[in-house]
Amino acid sequence: MISVKNLHKAYGSHVVLSDISVDIKTSEVVVVIGPSGSGKSTFLRCLNLLEQPQGGDILIEGVNLMDKKTKINEVRTEVGMVFQQFNLFPHKKVIENIMLAPVQVRKWTEERARQKGMELLHKVGLAEKAEAYPSSLSGGQSQRVAIARALAMEPKIMLFDEPTSALDPEMVGEVLAVMKDLAGEGMTMVVVTHEMGFAREVGDRVLFMEQGVVVEQGTPAELFGNPQHMRTQEFLSKVL
Ligand code: ATP
Ligand code: MG
Repeated sequence: MISVKNLHKAYGSHVVLSDISVDIKTSEVVVVIGPSGSGKSTFLRCLNLLEQPQGGDILIEGVNLMDKKTKINEVRTEVGMVFQQFNLFPHKKVIENIMLAPVQVRKWTEERARQKGMELLHKVGLAEKAEAYPSSLSGGQSQRVAIARALAMEPKIMLFDEPTSALDPEMVGEVLAVMKDLAGEGMTMVVVTHEMGFAREVGDRVLFMEQGVVVEQGTPAELFGNPQHMRTQEFLSKVL
């Protein structure tokens, strides 16, 4: 459903993504790992054109994002994204944060959006926080609201860029649990994370990136248990 072909991205003369080709199937959970600066975030951001690549093709369900005729805003409604920083709107209640995009972009009625929002808050275990303001939430709660907010658009794909890296350690588990549930429901997910336990347990495939290229990819068992490239071995010896 996602097909990336020969993706190329540079800032000036600095090549950040070099000839990346990856296919991601429906319901697949792909975990992206690699050292800082290897291009993981840039890769993710290219998948919904938050970054404009200079070359290659990105097909999402057959629609080529690089085609000038493609309406990128329509594509973006199908691709949810969750960042390290939750970026909730501080002056809006939790439920209002979640209702905003479905009402404004999808043109749902307030009632429908609220119903969907409450459903999602139940799912992430935060129904009792619907009327709270973001400033009263913990980091883990905020990130679960951010996930609910992304899901409110009923995306076909969810992108996660280090969703637990800004959290206190005791809150990491609750966010990973929500992501694991989502994967179990068949959501197609691309997840940049340093949580190797999550990668092993939930990932269908792991990509190891370095200096803008996918050095190696495989199932978690293959990549963690029997890495083929020296660079993968070196990286894993530091993080495992
Ligand atoms: P981290 O693990 O630290 O998040 P990353 O793998 O996500 O790293 P990217 O953020 O994708 O890496 O950055 C890849 C490279 O692109 C880095 O060398 C970075 O400095 C560079 N880069 C990213 N964004 C820009 C930008 N807007 N302008 C110039 N260079 C950039
Ligand atoms: Mg990054």
